[in-house]
Amino acid sequence: MTPTSDGNDGIQVSDCPRCGWPESDTYEVMSRHLTSEGVVSYTRCACGEVQVRFQPYDAGRVVTTGPPAR
Ligand SMILES: [Zn+2]
Repeated sequence: MTPTSDGNDGIQVSDCPRCGWPESDTYEVMSRHLTSEGVVSYTRCACGEVQVRFQPYDAGRVVTTGPPAR
């Protein structure tokens, strides 16, 4: 089974809910913003699905993913 953000508050790296594109293989990074705690990246999948992911400086990996909140 492919893990999704359903019921996990989005704290999960998962494949695209629309086409199953692996999150580990980002299709296109639309924009990237540096914050005090980490890097926020807006990515677009091959199918057009836009997601936002947050990568904290101290973890070295993506810990959240999901649709843009705002
Ligand atoms: Zn997709």
